[in-house]
Amino acid sequence: MDSEEQTEEYDTSLTEAHTYLGEGLENMRGRTILDDTVTHQMLVLAGRNVTLIPGETLPLLLHHNEEVRPWLKTHKVFGILYPRQTVYGTTADLRSFKEEQSHDGYWTLTVKAEGSQRFKVIEKRIISQVIFMAEVRILPDRRLLPPEQHLLLEGNRLRNVMGKLTPFPQWVYNQCHERILMKELSEVMKSILGKDPPVKDPTAFSYWVVANVPINEGDRKVLLALNSSQERLFMAKHYLKLNCKICCAECLSEISTKDHMFSMSTSGAQGTFVNMAGYIHEMLTVRLVDGVSYVGASSEHYSWFPGYAWHIIECAECGMHVGWRFSTQKNLQPQKFWGLSRGSVRFAPIDNMSQLDKDVFMATAQMSRAYLDSTPETYETPPDL
Ligand SMILES: [Zn+2]
Repeated sequence: MDSEEQTEEYDTSLTEAHTYLGEGLENMRGRTILDDTVTHQMLVLAGRNVTLIPGETLPLLLHHNEEVRPWLKTHKVFGILYPRQTVYGTTADLRSFKEEQSHDGYWTLTVKAEGSQRFKVIEKRIISQVIFMAEVRILPDRRLLPPEQHLLLEGNRLRNVMGKLTPFPQWVYNQCHERILMKELSEVMKSILGKDPPVKDPTAFSYWVVANVPINEGDRKVLLALNSSQERLFMAKHYLKLNCKICCAECLSEISTKDHMFSMSTSGAQGTFVNMAGYIHEMLTVRLVDGVSYVGASSEHYSWFPGYAWHIIECAECGMHVGWRFSTQKNLQPQKFWGLSRGSVRFAPIDNMSQLDKDVFMATAQMSRAYLDSTPETYETPPDL
């Protein structure tokens, strides 16, 4: 390596561009926002192994999907069901698209889409095991008014006055206040990811937090099932207070910790990627791992991070595939990092967790589930929670 060459920081916007998908994708214009007061007919994909969160980029490589092609050529929106779900999912808004026909006549579709709105399937007609046409209802995203605005008033002093005149102290009103919650969570997220939030809109911000908060799939679905940014941020705040380790999902050996999470993408530490076979991986980037072994040789082919070669890693204890190491020979920083497949790891409270933290963790989980159980039809608990 030439010591006179300047070391460059990796350009995290390259990750969001998904350059490994190749060139020639046609960009789509505009966004599609569906009305949440009526139902919609939509092509829905199941079995894709991804919990698509509104605002997240979804790359897809669809081989031999003859049923999907005509829909995507005439519509800009399709649905993706959450893993192991039969009715709940997120709409994907088409951003760019390419179709290629092989010599034997089959089509391969390359798609970049963005998670947009949560939905519930009302009725469906099965086309194949993983594709169906469905009548869906969009789940609304509401913004709750700050407490003082229910009195048609505004301002910090009023919450102070309300704290003195009502049975609840001011901090109770503050913890339901969207602006205050956003400020608190921006600071916490910055300390974890080392970056400012990429979005300012409260609803988009709450989904960005859900995408990046280190929690397991069941808890993430609880946050996704909530219908307002305040509720999502309020619940996420409690999860973010916990120190946790990242373990192999099979044998629970420790592989990394929350402290090692960092951003290799403009959207944060969490990203969704697709391999050449069309298999989707939700991945979390960390600076350091322990207790892993390396399999095969490293390769730069189809790398999700331009300039970096990938090397498969397994849990050293049980041999489960848990992710990849990414390393570069170029003058790029970081020189190496690791991507953990979210489906292969679990977050667990650290062993020396205080009794108070354990109580907060249990109370948050119980509160989330109790909240969902007691709410109207649109909050219905997904069946596999
Ligand atoms: Zn293991």
